[in-house]
Amino acid sequence: MPEQPSSPVPAGSDGLRPATRAVHAGRPARTPDAPLNTPLTMAATYVGGGDVEYGRYGNPTWLAFEETLGSLEGGRALAFSSGLAAVAALLDLVAPDGVVVAPQHSYQGTLGQLGDLELRGRVRTRLVDIEDVDAVTAACEDAALLWIESPTNPALEVADIPALAAAAHAAGATVVVDNTFATPLLQQPLDLGADVVLHSATKFLAGHSDALLGAVVVRDPQLYDVVKGRRDLLGAVPGTLEAWLALRGLRTLHLRVERAQANAAELVRRLEAHPAVSRVRYPGFGAIVAIELTGGPLAADLLCRSTSLWVFATSLGGVESTLERRRRWKTEAATIPESLVRLSVGVEDVDDLWDDLVAALEAR
Ligand code: PLP
Repeated sequence: MPEQPSSPVPAGSDGLRPATRAVHAGRPARTPDAPLNTPLTMAATYVGGGDVEYGRYGNPTWLAFEETLGSLEGGRALAFSSGLAAVAALLDLVAPDGVVVAPQHSYQGTLGQLGDLELRGRVRTRLVDIEDVDAVTAACEDAALLWIESPTNPALEVADIPALAAAAHAAGATVVVDNTFATPLLQQPLDLGADVVLHSATKFLAGHSDALLGAVVVRDPQLYDVVKGRRDLLGAVPGTLEAWLALRGLRTLHLRVERAQANAAELVRRLEAHPAVSRVRYPGFGAIVAIELTGGPLAADLLCRSTSLWVFATSLGGVESTLERRRRWKTEAATIPESLVRLSVGVEDVDDLWDDLVAALEAR
C-alpha cells in the first residue's frame, strides 16, 4: 500500500502549524470583553437588508466551524446536517446520466446513495478497486466524477490520491475525497490534487459521539458557490448546537488523533501475534483497525458482546473505543469478510484497552 504522509503537516500560508490553527482559527475578534469562544447563535432569521437574511443561508456558529476546518484542510468549508447530506449534495451536482467512479468498498451509505441514483436512471456508477491505479484510470474515461474514500470504510484500502487525481483530471472528471478516516492532520487531499474534500464530521472532527454533522471543503471559489447553492436549495443545513459541538471538538483534534493513532499502532502490534486473529488490517496511520477472527462470524459477534470497556456500537472516531462486526448490516458490501470487526481506537490507556480486548477474545 502507498505510504501516506503523517504529521507534522507543514505550516500553512499564515505560517502557523495545524495544531495552532486547530486551537486559534475561527475565534471572535479580540476586542475588550469579547468572548473567547464563538457563541451559539440560535437564529432562524435575521434583521433584513444584510448578507445572510435567513437561517438556512448562514449562521455565525457554522461559520466559526467552517473557518477552522477550512484552515486545516487548506480551503473553504461548508457544514452540512450530516456526512450523508454532504454526499447527497455533491452527487446531486452530477449531470443526468453522468458516470461516477467510486470504490467498491466505499462507506455503505455512499454506496447506498449511488445504488439508489443508478436504479432511478440518474447516474451510472462504476465500482472499482481504489488501490488499482490502472483500473481506476480506465474507469475514469468519460466519467463526470471520481469519488475516492481513503482509507476505505471498513476495508482500510489506501488510494494513491495524486495519481488518481491526475488520471481523473486528464479525463475531465472532478475529484472528491472522503477524508473522514484520515482527518486533515494525516492527509490533505486538496494539496494532493483533489477538487473537493468531504467529511463525516460526526466522527474524528467532532470526536465525542455527540453530534451528527457533515462538511465539504473546496478551493475553487466558483465551486464553493455551487456547493453552497446546493446546500441552500436542499436545506441540508447543520444544527447550530451540532456545529458548536464540532467546533469545540476540533480544538483538540490534534491531541486526540495523536493519542488514538499511537494506541492503534500498539494494539496492531499486539493483535498481529494473537492466535484468535487471522488478519489485521491497518494502513499504517489513523485510529481505525479491522481484524478478522479465526473463529469466524460467531467469534466476532461474541467478541463484540464480551468487552466491558470497548463499546459495541456503530460509528467511529470518538474519544471512547468502539467495535462492531460490519457484516451485521445487510447493506455492507458482500466482499467484506463476515468475521471482520472494525475497531475505532479511542484515547484511553492502551493497556486497559488491550486487557479488555484480550479477555473478550478469549471469552467462551
Ligand atoms: N463517510 C464515511 C467514511 C463514513 O464512515 C460515514 C459514516 O459512517 C459517512 C461518510 C456518513 O456520515 P454521517 O454518518 O455523518 O452521515
